[in-house]
Amino acid sequence: MTADGLDPAREFAQSALQLMERFHIPPTPQNYQIWYSYAAGRDPELNSAINILISNKRDFTETRCAEIAEQFFGIGRGSKEVHEATERLHDLANTIIKHVSTAKKGSSHFGKQVATISSDAKNVSTTEEIERLALGLIKEAHVITEMSATIEKNLNTTGGEITALRRSLTRMRKEATTDPLTGLANRREFNNFLKTSAVISGETGAPMSLIMFDIDHFKHFNDQYGHRIGDEALKIVASKLKLVLKGKDLPVRYGGEEFIAVLPETPLEDARTVAEHIRTALSGSNLKNRITGEHYGKITASFGVAVFSLGESLEDFVQRADEALYRAKRDGRNRVEIATDSDLQHHSSDSISA
Ligand code: GH3
Ligand code: MG
Ligand code: MG
Repeated sequence: MTADGLDPAREFAQSALQLMERFHIPPTPQNYQIWYSYAAGRDPELNSAINILISNKRDFTETRCAEIAEQFFGIGRGSKEVHEATERLHDLANTIIKHVSTAKKGSSHFGKQVATISSDAKNVSTTEEIERLALGLIKEAHVITEMSATIEKNLNTTGGEITALRRSLTRMRKEATTDPLTGLANRREFNNFLKTSAVISGETGAPMSLIMFDIDHFKHFNDQYGHRIGDEALKIVASKLKLVLKGKDLPVRYGGEEFIAVLPETPLEDARTVAEHIRTALSGSNLKNRITGEHYGKITASFGVAVFSLGESLEDFVQRADEALYRAKRDGRNRVEIATDSDLQHHSSDSISA
């Protein structure tokens, strides 16, 4: 598939791995993302930052890689809270290593004592001697039992702390990636997911599509029923979107009343069908207040659908979907429009200078 650029993708992947090996960089997904992007030359700023580090013969330490990931991909440590939790995890790991090595020392001492007793036992002739050895064995067994009980207690305490820490890390991660109103992925999570999916799409050649939609005349809805009911309506839209999507798809609240669905491994025609499903799921139901019974009518949305074209920037990709959405609005709303290549050409001439 040279024509659609699969070979360059393979080349980028190969040079990314070679560069990582050359600079002794652990092959984590995060590092791979950095070096794939470097090899593909997607972000001139990233390339120039890395080139400066290389020409200054700076090591790509774990910390430096994390800094690059955070600066250029918005991945990572970010908050102080996450940083502290990571430190705590590190301390706990060290504590466990200490406990385990104490346990090892204890058991090897026990092993030696028992071996001595066992070899002494070969030469005993009197019952007194046997009794003495047996008592020695019982004493050793007692010591090791007590020691393991202490170690077990220590390990249990540490285990409890780790569970608590893991829970708070999960909560922090969820908060950092989720829109609080709808529970859908937020924009930050969208950016990360899109980047990763684009890399995978480049490697496998599987198409990736994106649906962007915006609720029609939502200002009017808010004006008519109030912001609180507006918020409830957004939650219903989110749950309908989740019901239609499945598998690897990511539902996103992109902004106020704008939503996105990223569809990995989905060609354009299938994405259009999914968009139609979302559109009919929204327009086909009447919103009603469960308590008062008040009717709020229907909510409709306008949709733009695009398939990722290898080699285009992710900004252009999203913008093409946005452009199609704009056409759907202009042509009457409550409809699905497909992004074309001319949307891309249009945007590549959109540069602004000062
Ligand atoms: P169009 O069909 O052209 O998209 O019209 P519109 O009224 O939806 O578009 P416009 O951009 O003029 O207004 C968007 C409105 O969406 C503004 C605001 O009242 C509403 N909105 C945005 N975010 C929220 C939110 O979080 N909660 C609520 N209740 N309303 C929101
Ligand atoms: Mg809008
Ligand atoms: Mg709108």
